[in-house]
Amino acid sequence: MRVLILGAGLTGCTLARLLKNKDYTVSIKEKLNHIGGLCYTKISPNGLFYEPYGGHAFHTKDNRVRQFVLKYSDFNNYKHTKGIIIGGILRHFPLSKETITDMENSDQIFKELEERPKVPDLTNFETYAISKFGKTLYKLIIYNYSKRMWGVEPRELTTVYIKNRIDLKDSITHIFEDDFQGLPVNGYTNFLNNMIHDIPLELNRTEFNESLYDLILFSGRIDELFNFKFGRLQFRSLKFNYKKNSSWENENYGSINLPQHHKYIRKVNFKIMYQQKTDNSWIQFQEPIAFKKIGGPLYPIYTKQNIELFDKYLVEACKSENIIPVGRLGLYKYLEMGQTISLVMDMIPLIEKWKEMKPKQRYLEFKRLLNNLQD
Ligand SMILES: Cc1cc2nc3c(=O)[nH]c(=O)nc-3n(C[C@H](O)[C@H](O)[C@H](O)COP(=O)(O)OP(=O)(O)OC[C@H]3O[C@@H](n4cnc5c(N)ncnc54)[C@H](O)[C@@H]3O)c2cc1C
Repeated sequence: MRVLILGAGLTGCTLARLLKNKDYTVSIKEKLNHIGGLCYTKISPNGLFYEPYGGHAFHTKDNRVRQFVLKYSDFNNYKHTKGIIIGGILRHFPLSKETITDMENSDQIFKELEERPKVPDLTNFETYAISKFGKTLYKLIIYNYSKRMWGVEPRELTTVYIKNRIDLKDSITHIFEDDFQGLPVNGYTNFLNNMIHDIPLELNRTEFNESLYDLILFSGRIDELFNFKFGRLQFRSLKFNYKKNSSWENENYGSINLPQHHKYIRKVNFKIMYQQKTDNSWIQFQEPIAFKKIGGPLYPIYTKQNIELFDKYLVEACKSENIIPVGRLGLYKYLEMGQTISLVMDMIPLIEKWKEMKPKQRYLEFKRLLNNLQD
């Protein structure tokens, strides 16, 4: 079977590798002048590894994924550690009861925590967050951050993103609790280059001749695939600014959330994430912006309308005999890197049976795979 993969991000490269290992004839075309998609590592002007689309910390619970990635790079043992600045004071993130004790209003916060419902309110993002954190803590750290992050009132968002993502911990923990965590020692670009070293790749290419392939796996935007015929899916984006050798509050934190900053939402210290031994540093400041022409389509905005619109596109995609949407853009889904790889692994049987299946079966199988995704 001749398979064309559009997009050389983590999804495209993983698909290419796994299908090539099964003896399919595989090639890749990538729109940009580099591979990696968002998982892209460059060298900063002062000589540090950094990621121009935002710092990425790899983590997984899935043993298949761990064994797979270790074939293409060693990973450093950086466990993602985040801080958050509230009222000018750096605190550990995710917040725990321990870190709240010395906050202003802590009595009120603890009272509201005591009164939390046993089952979180899934009506929308805001009701969910309040039922997990109480109103005071919600106002202090979540409301502003989320409104700026998503560009809409939190009550207009569903719980798809927030569910299982934020919680108040009993004690101080890392942001991810997976056993396997780290960054590829020579960066994501090197890791993905190793993964696809023997697979034909063309950069700066989107056009293709459909008749030359039995299957086309499309990791670009699903709405773009259909020429936006039902309308545009909305994305949130980020603008990135950099400072070299800027001061950093605490060398344990690879990234720090800035819920009360007038411009930036978070900052990332690549020296820490890549465990680079140098006196220099390269700090990335992230400013949330609407995705129009500048910035990439980074985060799907999970309003009810967008979710319904995506579903319409997915139904349409399942009617195609030879083009399958894949990856975070094809499936309009925020996927962590570990999830991206495990989803690709779980999608291989669907891809292999695609032509024999009816559109409805394809759709139900997509739904099953997306619902079964582990955190
Ligand atoms: C700001 C940010 C930070 C993140 N941090 C983390 C983190 O710390 N840890 C973690 O686990 N995950 C993180 N992620 C998630 C991670 O980025 C994704 O898991 C990963 O990028 C998914 O890879 P992908 O290949 O599906 O998508 P992408 O990386 O977007 O790749 C898609 C590729 O397809 C190409 N393409 C698009 N259209 C076409 C076309 N028509 N023809 C050819 N090529 C095309 C694009 O140029 C791109 O190269 C983060 C995501 C964001 C937005």
